[in-house]
Amino acid sequence: MSAMYPNLLQPLDLGFTQLRNRVLMGSMHTGLEEDKKGLHKLAAFYEERAKGGVGLIVTGGFSPNLRGRLHPFSAEFSKPKHANAHKVVTEAVHRQGGKIALQLLHAGRYAMHPFALSASGIKAPIAKFAPSEMSSRQIRKTIDAFANSAALAQLAGYDGVEVMGSEGYLLNQFICKRTNMRYDEWGGSYENRMRFPLEVVKAIRKAVGEEFIIIFRLSMLDLVEEGSTFEEVLALAKALEEAGVTIMNTGIGWHEARIPTIATQVPRSAFAWVTEKIKPHLSIPVITCNRINTPEEGEKIIRSGQADMVSMARPFLADPEFVNKAAEDKAQFINTCIGCNQACLDNVFKGKRASCLVNPRACYETEIVVQPAETKKKVAVIGAGPAGLSCATTLSERGHQVDLYERNDRIGGQFRLAMQIPGKEEFRETIRYFANRIDTTGVNLQLSTEATFDMLNEYDEVVMASGVEPRKVAIEGIDNPEKVVDYQTLIKEKTPVGEKIAIVGAGGIGVDVATMLTEPNGHNLDDWLHEWGIDKKIEHPGGLYPYPDSLSDKTVWVLQRRAGRVGKGPGKTTGWIHKRTLEKRGVNLMGGVNYDKIDEQGLHITFKGKEQLLEADKVVICAGQESVRPFEDKWHDLGEKLHVIGGADHAGELDAVRAIRQGVELAVKL
Ligand code: NAP
Ligand code: SF4
Repeated sequence: MSAMYPNLLQPLDLGFTQLRNRVLMGSMHTGLEEDKKGLHKLAAFYEERAKGGVGLIVTGGFSPNLRGRLHPFSAEFSKPKHANAHKVVTEAVHRQGGKIALQLLHAGRYAMHPFALSASGIKAPIAKFAPSEMSSRQIRKTIDAFANSAALAQLAGYDGVEVMGSEGYLLNQFICKRTNMRYDEWGGSYENRMRFPLEVVKAIRKAVGEEFIIIFRLSMLDLVEEGSTFEEVLALAKALEEAGVTIMNTGIGWHEARIPTIATQVPRSAFAWVTEKIKPHLSIPVITCNRINTPEEGEKIIRSGQADMVSMARPFLADPEFVNKAAEDKAQFINTCIGCNQACLDNVFKGKRASCLVNPRACYETEIVVQPAETKKKVAVIGAGPAGLSCATTLSERGHQVDLYERNDRIGGQFRLAMQIPGKEEFRETIRYFANRIDTTGVNLQLSTEATFDMLNEYDEVVMASGVEPRKVAIEGIDNPEKVVDYQTLIKEKTPVGEKIAIVGAGGIGVDVATMLTEPNGHNLDDWLHEWGIDKKIEHPGGLYPYPDSLSDKTVWVLQRRAGRVGKGPGKTTGWIHKRTLEKRGVNLMGGVNYDKIDEQGLHITFKGKEQLLEADKVVICAGQESVRPFEDKWHDLGEKLHVIGGADHAGELDAVRAIRQGVELAVKL
């Protein structure tokens, strides 16, 4: 037993069964649920996590019937053939001593097909189709469908089900006035609005008997207008306990809410206080979640009594062995989820399989297999940024002899810049993880060492991961160091910029620099909640109150030549947060700009056909990158032993997902 996390790792007795610790792997849709041979891959994915020690796993959401599917081809769990097919998953988890529950999710009005159903016919702001209002018969049949799916889950060997009652899905749509305009027994008073989820739980309990886990994911903080009040949430929680729920899980925010709830900008454990408010009123265990990504956070929550269990989802993409490493007091070796969403949620939203930026093997367990090398080779890796680090450590893990050359005096490359951006501090964890991996895998790291061509003769393989440098742009006056600075120098050297700053380039880094320059001092959790208008007393419905924008003292322009959307950066699921943050701070976002010149007065531009002067004290260049390719003229002499990865391979649209994946994919092949 761990000396450092005794509370987190103590078993949880549920009466009829026991969980081996207080860690729940929260529900995540991976995209394998719908894949042709997906269940076998899903089984391998869950088996690794069960082997890694997690107490209880919850699957991604499966619909209890056809019309509840999120997408036309989303996975359903409603027939005996589904139960049979899922046995491969439950057996894999049980083989490793784990437990697993199936999540039942009816999308309601969030369904991306024309057969969507809801409490009332009100279209969701994020949906394509308006739902039809459910008839009483449809409601009854849907309750039966939930019970049928739960009974089939039991048959498939699942240890329980989780009923998705939050994030704005169907059950949540019945609970809140925002989406329920009915006048029958399923709408109107709160007693009527909570009838549907209660009937679902009662029907499931009747179908599965007493010795089967029912988790209810209760929306404790809707973060939308006309959401539930605290009294309403409490009344429902008590009634759900009475109806037969075994464990109460916390849901924070509807999908249509315009408040960040899991992105990296959200402070760690930012919503544990919500669960804490409910816990004293229930006698069943409660789970808290959102932005818990280290065992320290989990331990703190359980020790202080805020919750009985913690749910982490993405941290198990990042590291399947999270719990075992914590149990062995080796948390420094955990590959920490940095909350970026770049390879998990962003992928799922694009209809692609989920994976993880810091762990490309996630959901590819059967495809990317790290095995001992048949022939041990001597390999030089040039550059200790994300691509070089992932490649060097995986090569070394396989038994190759690896020399890793880095011209700077530290490892990390672009991550070292990223971690200095407010709200991106988590990138530091990845550098910590790789630093420890270098030690344990035995990579020979040579810092402050520029690799030369002559050094490479002695190697069997050469991996060029030399990264990128800021792009040099051609604007008249750009060479004036008093007036102009590139983003790399600015972030590294904290160059003074004055009060008025023009940022050339509105990609991910332009947005990051604008965020950094306008960040208020001494920002803590309460400031963050206040900034987003979150009502800690939950006196206002949905936990929201009107709040003024807090404008920055600085004048900042973020510019791009392309007309159209500015300020979102590249993240599919996080772009709106960046843009909203900049808008709230009063940053000027301008697309369709032509740069004329830079002089003592500032940056001269042409905008909408008119010449204009932005009286900037400093112009910051964030205009993308160019590859760094040392001794490129001699690369052909290296022949087939040269491999180029990451930014050195292709600087355009460089992202860390590609860099790290390329590093690992190459390393498993050599
Ligand atoms: P970027 O996304 O390629 O953006 C470059 C910006 O510079 C664009 O706004 C572009 O707009 C402008 N630009 C390009 N060439 C120019 C030129 N010759 N003169 C003036 N302006 C020029 O590059 P980045 O912002 O450096 O980001 C690099 C990569 O890091 C991104 O691809 C991203 O994947 C990653 N990143 C991700 C995040 C995240 O939050 N997920 C954050 C930071 C970085 P116009 O051409 O329209 O002027
Ligand atoms: Fe976490 Fe980013 Fe990996 Fe998603 S891609 S699991 S957010 S580190």
